[in-house]
Amino acid sequence: SENLYELLAAGFAAARDKACFILSDGREISYGTLEAGAAQVAGHLKALGVEPGDRVALQAEKSPEAVMVYLGTLKAGAVYLPLNSAYTAAEVEYFRKDAEPKVFVDDPSAFVAQAEAAAPLVEPVARAAFDLASIIYTSGTTGRSKGAMLSHGNLAANALALHRAWGFTPDDVLLHALPIFHVHGLFVAMHCAFLSGAPMVWLPKFADAEVLAGLKRATVMMGVPTFYTRLLANPGFTREAAAHMRLFICGSAPLLPSTFEDFEQRTGMRILERYGMSEAVIITSNPLDGERIAGSVGYPLPGVELRIDAGEGGGDTGVIQIRGPSVFGGYWRMPEKTAEEFTADGFFITGDVGRQDADGRVWISGRAKDLIISGGYNVYPKEVELVLDETPGVVESAVIGVPHPDFGEGVVAVVIGAPGARLDEAALIASARRDLAAYKTPKRVVFVDELPRNTMGKVQKKLLRERYAALFA
Ligand code: ATP
Ligand code: MG
Repeated sequence: SENLYELLAAGFAAARDKACFILSDGREISYGTLEAGAAQVAGHLKALGVEPGDRVALQAEKSPEAVMVYLGTLKAGAVYLPLNSAYTAAEVEYFRKDAEPKVFVDDPSAFVAQAEAAAPLVEPVARAAFDLASIIYTSGTTGRSKGAMLSHGNLAANALALHRAWGFTPDDVLLHALPIFHVHGLFVAMHCAFLSGAPMVWLPKFADAEVLAGLKRATVMMGVPTFYTRLLANPGFTREAAAHMRLFICGSAPLLPSTFEDFEQRTGMRILERYGMSEAVIITSNPLDGERIAGSVGYPLPGVELRIDAGEGGGDTGVIQIRGPSVFGGYWRMPEKTAEEFTADGFFITGDVGRQDADGRVWISGRAKDLIISGGYNVYPKEVELVLDETPGVVESAVIGVPHPDFGEGVVAVVIGAPGARLDEAALIASARRDLAAYKTPKRVVFVDELPRNTMGKVQKKLLRERYAALFA
């Protein structure tokens, strides 16, 4: 059958005696133990009356037992539904009502302990490629989270593509410090390790000391941009500290070119940036062999069709549309929303704006919902941010549009200055004006110590727009 569990288990079948999880306290949990745990969980779920297609939800801190619940759910033919561990009871209530899970796991250790009493499920429940494997709620950056329905075939196709693209072998050791309730930590990272039976240095979260220690054993790290800025802020992160590593991968949010360049200066290595989303896992990647370019998310993965819809205005920049084996089937219980987000010929309208250059590389300029229309002109925030970020004394910026009585929206820059830098609003506006047309130049600049980000390091522009909504009122 095409149950994803079979593909993953075949990947680690030769590694039963090898560590899967290397824990911070030195303990190791083998692939054999993971496999046995998954069989117990699957048997327990069946005994609880879980049928193929039923949802099994989990909200808990990251742990090896949570991974056993994930794999056991797949093996039992049920649908895995991970929830952000930071969600409040009220938020969880919404997801429970929306997804109607048959089983809700909030203590994976206790659940796995209970499962030991069950008869293990030896044979995975047969599933077809189009059967649902998981529902992943999107990060809610642009609105309420939607449940992306990913099939066994979607996840299998992407796992195989990434495993090949990033050259995973049984000799790799993956440093895993990501949360496991999003595609990044759950599918992208773990599936690459599973398919090689490669161990993971398993960290509950990103903590500098543990990561620096882990880099001495690991060969590959996957992270969000904030992982890399935190590493660079640590003087202990040196060329020697990274010497055991063969690959640093980054995604979930845009990597600043300055971070890419600082990283290369510090370590001599170029971060491999890739682009993905809950609805399709990974779409594009910079090359493993070949040039990785700062600011580009690389080439579409084999099998992915990518095109740009520039709309009536024409030009080379527009909304990115994708079609391919990893693209999801639709949003859970949102048939209308699903219909709106697919074109007649079956491309998913990502909502991200970008362009593809003559070489085929993709460059993302932001989200369609963040596009600013000021005085009737389109302003791409990224273009303005790149200019501001080049200004001496500016660490980072986020450019937003807020209501303006004359222009509809006014361009506002929210800027983080370097420690000790004396930045002045009027001077920064004047310097930006040298590189930008008047309608793109920020009308106001506000200085902050940090930008609001979620757990995946995504800047919450929605919050910024709310915070500065009355700036021109
Ligand atoms: P929601 O869809 O609920 O508004 P979200 O889009 O942030 O939230 P995710 O599916 O977790 O939810 O994130 C996918 C998005 O993350 C992509 O659509 C893209 O905007 C952004 N993203 C991921 N990788 C990159 C990258 N390398 N560069 C720029 N943006 C990225
Ligand atoms: Mg999205």
